[in-house]
Amino acid sequence: MAGMLKTIGFKIPQSCLLCQQPADALICHYCQTDLPVLALSQCDYNLLNWPKIKSGLQQVAYDSLLVSTEYCWPWDKLLTALKFNQRTLCAKALAEQFYRIALTHNGKRPEVILPMPLHYKRYAKRKYNQTMEIAKHLSALSGIALDDQLCQRSKATQAQTQLSGAQRRKNLRDAFRLSSSPAYQHVAIFDDIIATGSTVNSLSKALKKAKPSLHIEVWAIAISLSPGTSN
Ligand SMILES: [Zn+2]
Repeated sequence: MAGMLKTIGFKIPQSCLLCQQPADALICHYCQTDLPVLALSQCDYNLLNWPKIKSGLQQVAYDSLLVSTEYCWPWDKLLTALKFNQRTLCAKALAEQFYRIALTHNGKRPEVILPMPLHYKRYAKRKYNQTMEIAKHLSALSGIALDDQLCQRSKATQAQTQLSGAQRRKNLRDAFRLSSSPAYQHVAIFDDIIATGSTVNSLSKALKKAKPSLHIEVWAIAISLSPGTSN
């Protein structure tokens, strides 16, 4: 019995990741109630139906877009903390919140989650793929399989921050390659933060080129459409 408890025992944090008050969840009830979220039910769980969002995206090669929030406090705190010592708990908390906000409606689910492959420069710096970590938890919560082998970065793209829209698209041209033709009908690309959407769009194009009939959803924790931000 003691052995069993040891193997199933998940360490419950003593305090909320946001307010540090004692809590029985990663984010306490009060902080969760206060979290800003996008009104997904008002756009039928597809942000491409929302002109304010759609007009901020440069190109859209995918079929729908599901994001839990605009990039703002305290989401930024959790997304930033992913790089530091509480990263495992933050990844789990972000997956739980995305699941609660975006995936608890009755929609047709994708067969698989495709985490955005990490920019090699970022990986070299961080030794950690935060998108992958959140996606793993999301897969466990939703029961949707994870495929981190299909999509790969085929070249070292420049940092997007300093580039204009046209330069970003050139930078991302053929940035991805697929290890095989997609065996799926319906997938979800998952990224942590979307800015112009050019990175997810580039991957969507590669997938559609390999399989034009593929239904592609894009999922992300946060969207930041202000000019000059990196994605
Ligand atoms: Zn709290």
